[in-house]
Amino acid sequence: MMETTSISSALTLLSSILGMATKVNEREFNQAIIELQKALLNIQKEAAQLQQENINLTNQLSDLKQNLIDRSALEYDGYAYWVKIERGFDGPFCSVCVDNEHKRIRLTRIPGTFSGSTYRYDCHVHKKSFLIPIDVITKHTPVR
Ligand SMILES: [Zn+2]
Repeated sequence: MMETTSISSALTLLSSILGMATKVNEREFNQAIIELQKALLNIQKEAAQLQQENINLTNQLSDLKQNLIDRSALEYDGYAYWVKIERGFDGPFCSVCVDNEHKRIRLTRIPGTFSGSTYRYDCHVHKKSFLIPIDVITKHTPVR
């Protein structure tokens, strides 16, 4: 990262050099120093912008890390995600939310069967329904 304090000291030095140069009254020399001063001021401005950008990116990264779920603990069965627990699986969890948002959102079972062989599960976050074969659900249901 650019050191804005060192740029500030360079600018201070430049100001005193400019003061001396005024006494010498070398027009071209003065002009060059003025240009150099402008360039340094621009660098200082850019460094401040980069620092701000760095802060923003660091904050974004920290937010993302906080929302990140442990995907290695999840198993996908072609319909939904499950988490292996001691006596079976916890779930199902919405595959769209896991894949898109990196969030583990539990699906809500809608009573009854659909087409005779599937259960309907809804994601309350993105308002989607999933039809999951009953045998897939049974396979994941914790042993009682
Ligand atoms: Zn979802």
